[in-house]
Amino acid sequence: MSKDANPFESLQEQIDDASAYVGIGDDVIERLKRPERVLETTLTVEMDNGGLETFQAFRAQFNGDRGPYKGGIRYHPGVNRDEVKALSGWMVYKCALVDVPFGGGKGGIEVDPAAHSASEMERLSRAFAAELRPIIGVDRDIPAPDVNTGQQEMNWIKDTYETLERTTEPGVITGKAPDSGGSEGRVRATGRSVMFSTREALNWLGRDLAGATVAVQGYGNAGSVAAQALDQEGATVVSVSDSSGAIYNPEGLDTFAAKHHKTETGSVQEFAGATEVISNEDLLTLDVDVLIPAALENAIDASLAADIRADMIVEAANGPLTPGADEVLTDEDVYVVPDILANAGGVTVSYFEWVQNRNRFYWPEERVNNELETVITDGFDDLVAAFDEQDLPNLRTAAYVVALRRVASAYAQSGNWPWVYSRETEPHRLRAVCVRVACGSVDRVTFPRD
Ligand code: GLU
Repeated sequence: MSKDANPFESLQEQIDDASAYVGIGDDVIERLKRPERVLETTLTVEMDNGGLETFQAFRAQFNGDRGPYKGGIRYHPGVNRDEVKALSGWMVYKCALVDVPFGGGKGGIEVDPAAHSASEMERLSRAFAAELRPIIGVDRDIPAPDVNTGQQEMNWIKDTYETLERTTEPGVITGKAPDSGGSEGRVRATGRSVMFSTREALNWLGRDLAGATVAVQGYGNAGSVAAQALDQEGATVVSVSDSSGAIYNPEGLDTFAAKHHKTETGSVQEFAGATEVISNEDLLTLDVDVLIPAALENAIDASLAADIRADMIVEAANGPLTPGADEVLTDEDVYVVPDILANAGGVTVSYFEWVQNRNRFYWPEERVNNELETVITDGFDDLVAAFDEQDLPNLRTAAYVVALRRVASAYAQSGNWPWVYSRETEPHRLRAVCVRVACGSVDRVTFPRD
Protein backbone atom coordinates (compact mmCIF):
# COMPACT_ATOMS: atom_id res chain seq x y z
CA MET A 1 0.00 0.00 0.00
CA SER A 2 1.35 3.38 -0.91
CA LYS A 3 0.85 5.94 1.82
CA ASP A 4 2.69 8.55 -0.22
CA ALA A 5 0.46 9.58 -3.11
CA ASN A 6 -1.57 12.69 -2.33
CA PRO A 7 -4.98 12.04 -3.95
CA PHE A 8 -5.41 15.70 -4.91
CA GLU A 9 -2.07 15.65 -6.76
CA SER A 10 -3.13 12.36 -8.39
CA LEU A 11 -6.34 13.99 -9.66
CA GLN A 12 -4.36 16.95 -11.03
CA GLU A 13 -1.94 14.60 -12.75
CA GLN A 14 -4.82 12.69 -14.36
CA ILE A 15 -6.21 15.97 -15.71
CA ASP A 16 -2.76 17.03 -16.96
CA ASP A 17 -2.34 13.68 -18.75
CA ALA A 18 -5.62 14.17 -20.61
CA SER A 19 -5.13 17.89 -21.27
CA ALA A 20 -2.72 17.20 -24.15
CA TYR A 21 -5.59 15.64 -26.12
CA VAL A 22 -8.57 17.93 -25.46
CA GLY A 23 -7.80 21.20 -27.23
CA ILE A 24 -8.65 23.29 -24.17
CA GLY A 25 -6.30 26.13 -23.22
CA ASP A 26 -4.02 25.85 -20.20
CA ASP A 27 -5.86 28.72 -18.49
CA VAL A 28 -9.14 26.81 -18.51
CA ILE A 29 -7.43 23.53 -17.60
CA GLU A 30 -5.97 25.30 -14.58
CA ARG A 31 -9.48 26.26 -13.48
CA LEU A 32 -10.65 22.66 -13.92
CA LYS A 33 -7.93 21.36 -11.60
CA ARG A 34 -8.98 23.16 -8.40
CA PRO A 35 -12.08 23.23 -6.21
CA GLU A 36 -14.22 26.35 -6.26
CA ARG A 37 -14.32 26.29 -2.46
CA VAL A 38 -13.81 24.09 0.60
CA LEU A 39 -15.66 24.31 3.91
CA GLU A 40 -13.57 23.16 6.87
CA THR A 41 -15.34 23.00 10.19
CA THR A 42 -14.76 21.71 13.70
CA LEU A 43 -17.69 19.86 15.19
CA THR A 44 -17.99 19.60 18.97
CA VAL A 45 -20.31 16.83 20.04
CA GLU A 46 -21.39 15.45 23.39
CA MET A 47 -20.39 11.84 23.95
CA ASP A 48 -22.52 9.29 25.82
CA ASN A 49 -20.37 9.74 28.96
CA GLY A 50 -21.21 13.46 29.07
CA GLY A 51 -17.77 14.59 27.83
CA LEU A 52 -17.18 16.55 24.62
CA GLU A 53 -15.22 15.48 21.57
CA THR A 54 -14.18 17.57 18.58
CA PHE A 55 -13.98 16.36 14.98
CA GLN A 56 -12.65 17.94 11.78
CA ALA A 57 -15.10 17.92 8.88
CA PHE A 58 -14.93 19.13 5.29
CA ARG A 59 -17.10 19.78 2.25
CA ALA A 60 -15.41 20.60 -1.06
CA GLN A 61 -17.44 22.06 -3.91
CA PHE A 62 -15.21 21.48 -6.89
CA ASN A 63 -17.11 22.64 -9.94
CA GLY A 64 -20.71 23.63 -10.65
CA ASP A 65 -20.57 24.36 -14.38
CA ARG A 66 -22.84 21.42 -15.30
CA GLY A 67 -25.24 21.60 -12.35
CA PRO A 68 -25.43 21.52 -8.57
CA TYR A 69 -22.45 20.07 -6.70
CA LYS A 70 -23.01 16.38 -6.05
CA GLY A 71 -21.18 13.76 -4.06
CA GLY A 72 -20.99 11.71 -0.93
CA ILE A 73 -19.95 12.21 2.67
CA ARG A 74 -17.49 9.73 4.18
CA TYR A 75 -16.77 8.93 7.81
CA HIS A 76 -13.21 7.66 8.22
CA PRO A 77 -10.21 8.36 10.46
CA GLY A 78 -8.11 9.10 7.34
CA VAL A 79 -10.36 11.88 6.00
CA ASN A 80 -8.41 15.08 5.28
CA ARG A 81 -8.70 18.23 3.22
CA ASP A 82 -6.72 17.04 0.18
CA GLU A 83 -8.55 13.73 0.07
CA VAL A 84 -11.92 15.49 0.06
CA LYS A 85 -10.72 17.93 -2.62
CA ALA A 86 -9.64 15.03 -4.83
CA LEU A 87 -12.86 13.09 -4.27
CA SER A 88 -14.93 16.18 -5.15
CA GLY A 89 -13.00 16.58 -8.40
CA TRP A 90 -13.48 12.93 -9.32
CA MET A 91 -17.24 13.53 -8.86
CA VAL A 92 -17.17 16.37 -11.43
CA TYR A 93 -15.60 14.19 -14.10
CA LYS A 94 -17.66 11.14 -13.17
CA CYS A 95 -20.92 13.04 -13.63
CA ALA A 96 -19.66 14.56 -16.88
CA LEU A 97 -18.53 11.20 -18.31
CA VAL A 98 -21.91 9.53 -17.73
CA ASP A 99 -23.67 12.78 -18.65
CA VAL A 100 -25.57 13.21 -15.40
CA PRO A 101 -26.39 16.95 -15.03
CA PHE A 102 -24.43 17.62 -11.86
CA GLY A 103 -21.16 19.20 -10.85
CA GLY A 104 -19.03 17.62 -8.16
CA GLY A 105 -18.60 17.88 -4.42
CA LYS A 106 -17.51 15.66 -1.55
CA GLY A 107 -17.49 15.79 2.21
CA GLY A 108 -16.11 13.87 5.11
CA ILE A 109 -15.66 13.71 8.85
CA GLU A 110 -12.39 12.54 10.39
CA VAL A 111 -13.92 9.88 12.64
CA ASP A 112 -13.85 6.14 13.21
CA PRO A 113 -17.56 5.28 13.36
CA ALA A 114 -16.78 1.84 14.83
CA ALA A 115 -15.47 3.58 17.96
CA HIS A 116 -18.78 5.40 18.61
CA SER A 117 -22.33 4.52 19.58
CA ALA A 118 -25.27 5.09 17.22
CA SER A 119 -26.45 8.04 19.30
CA GLU A 120 -23.00 9.67 19.19
CA MET A 121 -22.95 9.21 15.41
CA GLU A 122 -26.44 10.71 15.17
CA ARG A 123 -25.37 13.81 17.11
CA LEU A 124 -22.23 14.11 14.97
CA SER A 125 -24.21 13.73 11.73
CA ARG A 126 -26.75 16.34 12.81
CA ALA A 127 -23.97 18.74 13.88
CA PHE A 128 -22.40 18.38 10.42
CA ALA A 129 -25.80 18.83 8.75
CA ALA A 130 -26.32 22.09 10.64
CA GLU A 131 -22.91 23.35 9.42
CA LEU A 132 -23.70 22.25 5.85
CA ARG A 133 -27.19 23.75 5.79
CA PRO A 134 -26.26 27.17 4.33
CA ILE A 135 -24.25 25.67 1.47
CA ILE A 136 -26.34 22.63 0.46
CA GLY A 137 -29.77 22.54 -1.17
CA VAL A 138 -31.74 20.71 -3.80
CA ASP A 139 -30.39 23.02 -6.54
CA ARG A 140 -27.11 23.89 -4.85
CA ASP A 141 -25.21 20.94 -3.40
CA ILE A 142 -26.65 17.46 -2.85
CA PRO A 143 -24.75 15.08 -0.52
CA ALA A 144 -25.02 11.28 -0.59
CA PRO A 145 -23.47 8.19 1.02
CA ASP A 146 -19.80 7.27 0.70
CA VAL A 147 -17.37 5.16 2.78
CA ASN A 148 -19.01 4.18 6.12
CA THR A 149 -22.22 6.14 5.53
CA GLY A 150 -25.60 4.93 4.27
CA GLN A 151 -29.34 5.35 4.55
CA GLN A 152 -29.32 6.09 8.30
CA GLU A 153 -26.85 8.98 8.05
CA MET A 154 -28.67 10.39 5.00
CA ASN A 155 -32.00 10.27 6.85
CA TRP A 156 -30.50 12.17 9.83
CA ILE A 157 -29.00 14.83 7.58
CA LYS A 158 -32.23 15.23 5.61
CA ASP A 159 -34.25 15.52 8.81
CA THR A 160 -31.89 18.12 10.29
CA TYR A 161 -31.96 20.18 7.09
CA GLU A 162 -35.74 20.01 6.73
CA THR A 163 -36.31 20.86 10.39
CA LEU A 164 -34.00 23.89 10.32
CA GLU A 165 -35.40 25.05 6.97
CA ARG A 166 -39.00 24.38 8.04
CA THR A 167 -39.74 22.57 4.79
CA THR A 168 -39.92 19.13 3.19
CA GLU A 169 -37.23 18.77 0.57
CA PRO A 170 -36.12 15.13 0.26
CA GLY A 171 -34.02 15.93 -2.84
CA VAL A 172 -31.51 17.83 -0.69
CA ILE A 173 -29.70 14.53 -0.15
CA THR A 174 -29.72 11.15 -1.89
CA GLY A 175 -29.14 7.58 -0.74
CA LYS A 176 -32.01 7.78 1.75
CA ALA A 177 -34.07 4.78 2.84
CA PRO A 178 -37.02 4.21 0.44
CA ASP A 179 -39.59 5.12 3.12
CA SER A 180 -37.83 8.47 3.54
CA GLY A 181 -37.78 9.26 -0.18
CA GLY A 182 -34.91 7.02 -1.27
CA SER A 183 -34.86 5.27 -4.63
CA GLU A 184 -35.26 1.58 -5.20
CA GLY A 185 -31.99 0.14 -6.46
CA ARG A 186 -29.74 2.85 -4.95
CA VAL A 187 -27.90 0.59 -2.48
CA ARG A 188 -26.87 -1.87 -5.20
CA ALA A 189 -26.24 0.74 -7.89
CA THR A 190 -22.47 1.19 -7.45
CA GLY A 191 -21.82 -2.54 -7.53
CA ARG A 192 -24.10 -3.00 -10.52
CA SER A 193 -22.23 -0.34 -12.51
CA VAL A 194 -18.97 -2.17 -11.74
CA MET A 195 -20.54 -5.29 -13.26
CA PHE A 196 -21.85 -3.43 -16.33
CA SER A 197 -18.47 -1.79 -16.95
CA THR A 198 -16.63 -5.10 -16.55
CA ARG A 199 -19.02 -6.80 -18.98
CA GLU A 200 -18.74 -4.00 -21.54
CA ALA A 201 -14.94 -3.87 -21.31
CA LEU A 202 -14.58 -7.65 -21.71
CA ASN A 203 -17.00 -7.68 -24.65
CA TRP A 204 -15.05 -4.83 -26.27
CA LEU A 205 -11.97 -7.06 -26.08
CA GLY A 206 -13.95 -9.95 -27.59
CA ARG A 207 -14.20 -11.79 -24.29
CA ASP A 208 -17.07 -13.03 -22.14
CA LEU A 209 -17.96 -12.18 -18.58
CA ALA A 210 -19.33 -15.70 -18.07
CA GLY A 211 -16.43 -17.86 -16.91
CA ALA A 212 -14.07 -14.92 -16.22
CA THR A 213 -12.16 -15.18 -12.94
CA VAL A 214 -12.41 -12.22 -10.58
CA ALA A 215 -10.72 -11.02 -7.36
CA VAL A 216 -12.31 -8.26 -5.26
CA GLN A 217 -10.32 -6.18 -2.75
CA GLY A 218 -12.77 -4.73 -0.20
CA TYR A 219 -16.10 -6.29 0.73
CA GLY A 220 -18.13 -3.27 1.76
CA ASN A 221 -21.18 -2.12 -0.19
CA ALA A 222 -19.44 -1.50 -3.54
CA GLY A 223 -17.20 -4.59 -3.45
CA SER A 224 -19.74 -7.10 -2.19
CA VAL A 225 -22.52 -6.03 -4.57
CA ALA A 226 -20.08 -5.97 -7.50
CA ALA A 227 -18.94 -9.51 -6.60
CA GLN A 228 -22.53 -10.71 -6.33
CA ALA A 229 -23.61 -9.06 -9.60
CA LEU A 230 -20.61 -10.53 -11.44
CA ASP A 231 -21.27 -13.94 -9.86
CA GLN A 232 -24.90 -13.76 -11.06
CA GLU A 233 -23.68 -13.05 -14.60
CA GLY A 234 -21.57 -16.23 -14.56
CA ALA A 235 -18.16 -14.92 -13.49
CA THR A 236 -16.15 -16.94 -10.94
CA VAL A 237 -15.17 -14.84 -7.92
CA VAL A 238 -12.09 -16.65 -6.58
CA SER A 239 -10.98 -14.22 -3.89
CA VAL A 240 -12.41 -11.41 -1.74
CA SER A 241 -10.95 -9.42 1.14
CA ASP A 242 -11.58 -6.84 3.82
CA SER A 243 -9.30 -5.12 6.31
CA SER A 244 -8.87 -8.45 8.16
CA GLY A 245 -7.26 -10.15 5.12
CA ALA A 246 -8.31 -12.15 2.06
CA ILE A 247 -9.92 -15.52 1.41
CA TYR A 248 -9.49 -17.69 -1.68
CA ASN A 249 -11.12 -20.63 -3.44
CA PRO A 250 -9.97 -21.49 -6.98
CA GLU A 251 -13.40 -23.06 -7.70
CA GLY A 252 -15.18 -19.81 -6.79
CA LEU A 253 -16.68 -18.38 -3.60
CA ASP A 254 -20.38 -18.10 -2.84
CA THR A 255 -20.46 -14.29 -2.85
CA PHE A 256 -23.84 -14.04 -1.13
CA ALA A 257 -22.91 -16.47 1.66
CA ALA A 258 -19.59 -14.63 2.13
CA LYS A 259 -21.46 -11.34 2.59
CA HIS A 260 -23.84 -12.98 5.05
CA HIS A 261 -20.82 -14.31 6.98
CA LYS A 262 -19.24 -10.82 7.07
CA THR A 263 -22.48 -9.25 8.28
CA GLU A 264 -22.79 -11.88 11.02
CA THR A 265 -19.17 -11.98 12.20
CA GLY A 266 -17.76 -8.60 11.14
CA SER A 267 -15.20 -9.98 8.64
CA VAL A 268 -14.73 -12.45 5.77
CA GLN A 269 -12.25 -14.48 7.84
CA GLU A 270 -13.23 -18.09 8.70
CA PHE A 271 -15.80 -18.18 5.92
CA ALA A 272 -16.50 -21.89 5.42
CA GLY A 273 -16.51 -21.64 1.62
CA ALA A 274 -12.85 -20.57 1.44
CA THR A 275 -10.04 -23.09 0.87
CA GLU A 276 -7.21 -20.74 1.76
CA VAL A 277 -6.48 -17.57 3.68
CA ILE A 278 -4.17 -15.21 1.76
CA SER A 279 -2.87 -11.69 2.30
CA ASN A 280 -4.36 -8.59 0.70
CA GLU A 281 -1.23 -8.26 -1.41
CA ASP A 282 -1.59 -11.89 -2.57
CA LEU A 283 -5.13 -11.06 -3.69
CA LEU A 284 -4.00 -8.01 -5.65
CA THR A 285 -1.36 -10.02 -7.51
CA LEU A 286 -3.50 -13.10 -8.30
CA ASP A 287 -3.50 -14.38 -11.87
CA VAL A 288 -7.16 -13.58 -12.63
CA ASP A 289 -9.01 -12.11 -15.60
CA VAL A 290 -10.38 -9.15 -13.63
CA LEU A 291 -9.10 -7.46 -10.47
CA ILE A 292 -11.50 -5.11 -8.66
CA PRO A 293 -10.04 -2.75 -6.05
CA ALA A 294 -13.09 -1.71 -4.01
CA ALA A 295 -11.61 -0.19 -0.84
CA LEU A 296 -9.80 3.15 -0.56
CA GLU A 297 -7.36 5.32 -2.52
CA ASN A 298 -3.77 4.26 -3.25
CA ALA A 299 -4.34 0.50 -2.92
CA ILE A 300 -1.99 -0.13 -5.87
CA ASP A 301 1.21 1.86 -6.32
CA ALA A 302 3.92 1.54 -8.97
CA SER A 303 5.85 -1.22 -7.22
CA LEU A 304 2.76 -3.37 -6.65
CA ALA A 305 1.58 -2.63 -10.20
CA ALA A 306 4.73 -4.29 -11.51
CA ASP A 307 3.53 -7.57 -9.92
CA ILE A 308 -0.08 -7.40 -11.15
CA ARG A 309 -1.03 -10.47 -13.18
CA ALA A 310 -4.70 -9.63 -13.89
CA ASP A 311 -5.59 -8.80 -17.52
CA MET A 312 -7.91 -6.02 -16.49
CA ILE A 313 -8.52 -3.79 -13.46
CA VAL A 314 -11.97 -2.33 -12.85
CA GLU A 315 -11.90 0.43 -10.23
CA ALA A 316 -14.86 0.16 -7.86
CA ALA A 317 -13.16 2.46 -5.30
CA ASN A 318 -12.35 6.09 -6.03
CA GLY A 319 -8.68 6.58 -6.83
CA PRO A 320 -7.34 3.09 -5.99
CA LEU A 321 -4.37 3.42 -8.39
CA THR A 322 -1.58 5.95 -8.01
CA PRO A 323 -0.43 7.76 -11.18
CA GLY A 324 2.78 5.71 -10.95
CA ALA A 325 0.74 2.50 -11.03
CA ASP A 326 -1.16 3.79 -14.06
CA GLU A 327 2.08 4.32 -15.92
CA VAL A 328 3.33 0.79 -15.20
CA LEU A 329 0.01 -0.80 -16.16
CA THR A 330 -0.22 1.20 -19.40
CA ASP A 331 3.26 -0.04 -20.34
CA GLU A 332 2.25 -3.61 -19.46
CA ASP A 333 -0.99 -3.39 -21.52
CA VAL A 334 -3.21 -4.05 -18.53
CA TYR A 335 -6.56 -2.39 -19.23
CA VAL A 336 -7.80 -0.17 -16.40
CA VAL A 337 -11.51 0.68 -16.46
CA PRO A 338 -11.45 3.96 -14.52
CA ASP A 339 -13.37 4.72 -11.33
CA ILE A 340 -15.22 7.62 -12.94
CA LEU A 341 -17.03 5.11 -15.14
CA ALA A 342 -16.97 1.88 -13.13
CA ASN A 343 -18.43 3.23 -9.88
CA ALA A 344 -20.65 5.89 -11.49
CA GLY A 345 -23.75 3.78 -10.79
CA GLY A 346 -24.04 5.30 -7.32
CA VAL A 347 -24.31 8.88 -8.48
CA THR A 348 -26.42 7.87 -11.47
CA VAL A 349 -29.10 6.35 -9.28
CA SER A 350 -28.69 9.32 -6.92
CA TYR A 351 -29.66 11.42 -9.93
CA PHE A 352 -32.71 9.20 -10.48
CA GLU A 353 -33.57 9.59 -6.77
CA TRP A 354 -33.30 13.39 -7.05
CA VAL A 355 -35.54 13.35 -10.16
CA GLN A 356 -38.09 11.19 -8.33
CA ASN A 357 -37.97 13.45 -5.25
CA ARG A 358 -38.58 16.52 -7.38
CA ASN A 359 -41.44 14.89 -9.25
CA ARG A 360 -42.87 13.24 -6.11
CA PHE A 361 -43.31 10.23 -8.38
CA TYR A 362 -41.41 7.02 -7.70
CA TRP A 363 -40.10 4.39 -10.08
CA PRO A 364 -40.10 0.60 -9.69
CA GLU A 365 -36.67 -1.04 -9.26
CA GLU A 366 -36.78 -2.54 -12.74
CA ARG A 367 -36.96 0.91 -14.32
CA VAL A 368 -34.07 2.15 -12.15
CA ASN A 369 -31.91 -0.83 -13.13
CA ASN A 370 -32.70 -0.57 -16.84
CA GLU A 371 -32.00 3.16 -16.98
CA LEU A 372 -28.77 2.63 -15.02
CA GLU A 373 -27.60 0.02 -17.53
CA THR A 374 -28.21 2.43 -20.40
CA VAL A 375 -26.29 5.26 -18.72
CA ILE A 376 -23.25 3.09 -17.95
CA THR A 377 -23.11 1.39 -21.36
CA ASP A 378 -23.48 4.78 -23.11
CA GLY A 379 -20.67 6.15 -20.92
CA PHE A 380 -18.47 3.22 -21.87
CA ASP A 381 -19.26 3.73 -25.57
CA ASP A 382 -18.33 7.43 -25.37
CA LEU A 383 -15.09 6.57 -23.60
CA VAL A 384 -14.12 3.89 -26.12
CA ALA A 385 -15.02 6.13 -29.06
CA ALA A 386 -12.55 8.75 -27.77
CA PHE A 387 -9.94 6.05 -27.07
CA ASP A 388 -10.17 4.67 -30.62
CA GLU A 389 -10.59 7.95 -32.51
CA GLN A 390 -7.64 9.65 -30.84
CA ASP A 391 -5.51 6.56 -30.26
CA LEU A 392 -5.19 7.52 -26.57
CA PRO A 393 -2.68 5.86 -24.23
CA ASN A 394 -5.22 4.32 -21.86
CA LEU A 395 -8.90 4.22 -20.90
CA ARG A 396 -8.51 6.69 -18.02
CA THR A 397 -7.14 9.35 -20.35
CA ALA A 398 -10.06 8.66 -22.70
CA ALA A 399 -12.53 9.09 -19.84
CA TYR A 400 -10.99 12.46 -18.88
CA VAL A 401 -10.91 13.61 -22.52
CA VAL A 402 -14.69 13.08 -22.76
CA ALA A 403 -15.41 14.56 -19.32
CA LEU A 404 -13.11 17.60 -19.53
CA ARG A 405 -14.59 18.57 -22.90
CA ARG A 406 -18.11 18.45 -21.48
CA VAL A 407 -17.26 20.58 -18.45
CA ALA A 408 -15.24 23.10 -20.49
CA SER A 409 -18.05 23.34 -23.02
CA ALA A 410 -20.62 24.12 -20.30
CA TYR A 411 -18.23 26.74 -18.92
CA ALA A 412 -17.77 28.36 -22.33
CA GLN A 413 -21.47 28.27 -23.11
CA SER A 414 -22.32 30.14 -19.92
CA GLY A 415 -20.56 33.17 -21.41
CA ASN A 416 -18.83 36.13 -19.84
CA TRP A 417 -19.64 37.42 -16.39
CA PRO A 418 -17.85 40.73 -16.31
CA TRP A 419 -19.37 42.33 -13.24
CA VAL A 420 -18.24 42.01 -9.69
CA TYR A 421 -20.04 39.62 -7.38
CA SER A 422 -22.71 41.27 -5.28
CA ARG A 423 -24.24 39.89 -2.12
CA GLU A 424 -27.52 39.37 -3.95
CA THR A 425 -25.93 36.87 -6.33
CA GLU A 426 -27.22 33.35 -5.90
CA PRO A 427 -24.43 31.60 -3.97
CA HIS A 428 -24.39 28.58 -6.26
CA ARG A 429 -23.43 30.84 -9.13
CA LEU A 430 -20.67 32.52 -7.16
CA ARG A 431 -17.45 31.49 -8.85
CA ALA A 432 -14.13 31.09 -7.11
CA VAL A 433 -12.94 33.88 -9.36
CA CYS A 434 -15.32 36.73 -8.62
CA VAL A 435 -14.48 38.87 -11.61
CA ARG A 436 -14.70 36.91 -14.77
CA VAL A 437 -13.87 38.83 -17.91
CA ALA A 438 -13.29 36.10 -20.45
CA CYS A 439 -14.03 32.48 -21.14
CA GLY A 440 -10.36 31.68 -21.53
CA SER A 441 -9.14 29.70 -24.46
CA VAL A 442 -12.15 27.51 -25.05
CA ASP A 443 -13.99 28.29 -28.26
CA ARG A 444 -16.77 30.80 -27.81
CA VAL A 445 -20.08 29.40 -28.90
CA THR A 446 -22.63 30.98 -31.20
CA PHE A 447 -26.09 29.58 -30.64
CA PRO A 448 -28.72 29.63 -33.39
CA ARG A 449 -31.66 31.96 -32.74
CA ASP A 450 -35.29 31.32 -33.61
N1 GLU B 1 -20.14 8.38 -3.00
C1 GLU B 1 -20.53 7.91 -4.29
C2 GLU B 1 -19.44 8.22 -5.31
O1 GLU B 1 -18.29 8.36 -4.96
C3 GLU B 1 -21.92 8.37 -4.71
C4 GLU B 1 -22.11 9.85 -4.77
C5 GLU B 1 -23.57 10.29 -5.00
O2 GLU B 1 -24.43 9.44 -5.06
O3 GLU B 1 -23.76 11.50 -5.08
O4 GLU B 1 -19.67 8.24 -6.48
